[in-house]
Amino acid sequence: MSIAYSKVVNNINIPRMLPIPEGMLPLASYDYVDICISGGRDSTAIILMMIYGYEVPREKIRLVHFRIDGPEENPVFFDWKETADHIAYIADFFDLRVETIWDELGLGTRIEQRGMFPDAKNRFCTSYGKRDCYGKYVRKRGSNVNVLVVSGERAEESSKRKTLPVCEAHFATAPTLHRRVDWFRPILHLTKSEVKDFCTESGVKEHPCYAKGFTRASCKFCILSSRDEMKLVSRLPDPDVEEDFKRLKALEIQIGHSMRFVKGQKMFLCDFVEEGIEEEEMIQLC
Ligand code: SF4
Repeated sequence: MSIAYSKVVNNINIPRMLPIPEGMLPLASYDYVDICISGGRDSTAIILMMIYGYEVPREKIRLVHFRIDGPEENPVFFDWKETADHIAYIADFFDLRVETIWDELGLGTRIEQRGMFPDAKNRFCTSYGKRDCYGKYVRKRGSNVNVLVVSGERAEESSKRKTLPVCEAHFATAPTLHRRVDWFRPILHLTKSEVKDFCTESGVKEHPCYAKGFTRASCKFCILSSRDEMKLVSRLPDPDVEEDFKRLKALEIQIGHSMRFVKGQKMFLCDFVEEGIEEEEMIQLC
């Protein structure tokens, strides 16, 4: 990774900004810059980085939000009910355009159809709900176009993320159509606390889930959640979340497959969140 440098813009300290990596075009050569946002701190940090750090003109930027529950008429299930409003607030704050995209079926129906929950080996929540629907979205731009897609993975989040490159060709690249799609991860090297400070300094409000004790704003029932996070969400004093958690437990019974496994054995959520299993004993499939 090249040496990073910091700068201050509008009284906001841009932490350890990376030089444009080799293999990427000069930023002015991209027709579109698609910033993937979940509403969490990492996505706020990449917006700040692209606007103030790399000085990408706002008219080129699209905030791309993946609605994991499918079309907007589908009720919220895995998504937080606050996410849509929070993303609208962020778009308004930065004066940016937001595009919400989804897999037509939504995650709940995908799980029903497959008779199983996603796990690390078969992570179909992201393949249908993010990878494929972004692929469709970006291909609609047709030919003779350069697109930069920007996402907020950080290396310290997992051993898998440590191996990700800062920049790579996206699979929607099509040389015969003269469509180039580059994938840029500008905060791969930043720590959680650097991101938090960056967002706090900017004055952007945080997704409400942080105030409830969560450390990331992803799906509220994420397959990667720790037992403590799952316990926390299952006990939130919010009737809507309580209903959604009941629905999740009913889905496990309906398909006969549990969302979590402990020591290689199915463990249904009612047990997973209520029994005193030590974290280190838990074998996460994800
Ligand atoms: S946040 Fe978790 S459950 Fe949701 S798409 Fe990502 S990995 Fe899957």
